Amino acid sequence: MKPPSKLTLALLLANENNNYQAIKDASAQLISLFNAAPDALIIIDQTGVIELINTTTQTMFLYNEHDLIGENISMLMPDSIKNAHDGYLSAYLQTGKTNIIGKGRKLSAIKSNGEEFCIFLSVGEVTNSSHTQFVGIISDISEQEKQQTILMETKEKLAQATRLTAMGELAAGIAHEINQPLAAILSYAQASKRLINSPGTLDINAITEPLEKICEQALRTHEVIDRLRTLVKRHTAQREKVDLYPLIHEAVRLTKTDPRMRGHEIELDLEEGKSIELFVDPIQIQQVLLNLIRNAVDAMEQEKGMPVKIGCRRLSGKEIEVSVTDSGKGITADASSSIFAPFFTTKKTGMGMGLSVCQTIIHGHGGRIYYRSKEPQETIFSFSLPLFTENQSGRE
Ligand code: ADP
Repeated sequence: MKPPSKLTLALLLANENNNYQAIKDASAQLISLFNAAPDALIIIDQTGVIELINTTTQTMFLYNEHDLIGENISMLMPDSIKNAHDGYLSAYLQTGKTNIIGKGRKLSAIKSNGEEFCIFLSVGEVTNSSHTQFVGIISDISEQEKQQTILMETKEKLAQATRLTAMGELAAGIAHEINQPLAAILSYAQASKRLINSPGTLDINAITEPLEKICEQALRTHEVIDRLRTLVKRHTAQREKVDLYPLIHEAVRLTKTDPRMRGHEIELDLEEGKSIELFVDPIQIQQVLLNLIRNAVDAMEQEKGMPVKIGCRRLSGKEIEVSVTDSGKGITADASSSIFAPFFTTKKTGMGMGLSVCQTIIHGHGGRIYYRSKEPQETIFSFSLPLFTENQSGRE
């Protein structure tokens, strides 16, 4: 057991000796401490009735002391939490057990003017008291939460900007993809027209084939446009349970429309047939893959025909690693410290945002991103991601 503090000791001694002045002094010190706390401190009994508050509670919740003492703590909670709180207390009364003691949690609270705000609440049990009492320690974290939201929105906008740049680069390739089926549709339509206009009875069988081809090609165009729309759409992170391999295949399919890919194949080293489940935003993870593949291809400007390799391996029972390897120019020691910094680029038309955004996305998913480079013939960019667990889906 920890030794009592000086103040507790002074109180104990004063009590023992019936020294009322000493008790008064020590109590005054305790009350000053209580009131000087930057957090709101609220003492309640086992039914939730407020017995004592400090001055920060009054300023934080915009109440006077007499408005709160004797009232139930639930008056400081929004309706959505009130019921749960009543439940905690009645469970405590029935079982004598509580699972909130010693733990902190983020909650919403409500001020006297009805304003809802974000708090961090920790609860402790008051020991050595004549009856059961709990002390709630409350920090107002609404400002931090606001900053966090702004930060997330900025990162989201940044990711959006990069996606748009990437789309600009992909646009030429996509135009090429759409042009091909359009040309095919035109020629099948002309063939059908010729058949219809040719003398004699119309051969229905002969015209069916070009019409089917027209439908097929129109569908292909629709698919390309659909993929484009998914990438460009304003997108807030939406995590879901996904299988990693189909996600990699889809990213590879997308790069096929990138004109720079010409002359570079993608070699996949995946244990096909296996399922690797992740809890991620698939669009964001594809964005990371597209960035790494594009960088790999850019690095192999002089190595035409060399492939980009994508591999996967389990790091532990809980993590998977995806790697993108190229045989390009490598990364110099000078560049190595800045590689993930925003706006760092060695390319004439580079923006230097690709790796920075990749890092934000991977860190946001609880993973890591790193590279190894053997200048001048090999660079491996890898990222790790936690494997799916039931807890993850519960959190969203
Ligand atoms: P950008 O592609 O617009 O330059 P990135 O943030 O994606 O922006 O990359 C930053 C820099 O990192 C690149 O300009 C390049 O110098 C370096 N880099 C990234 N990937 C590779 C790679 N696979 N091989 C060599 N250098 C790379």
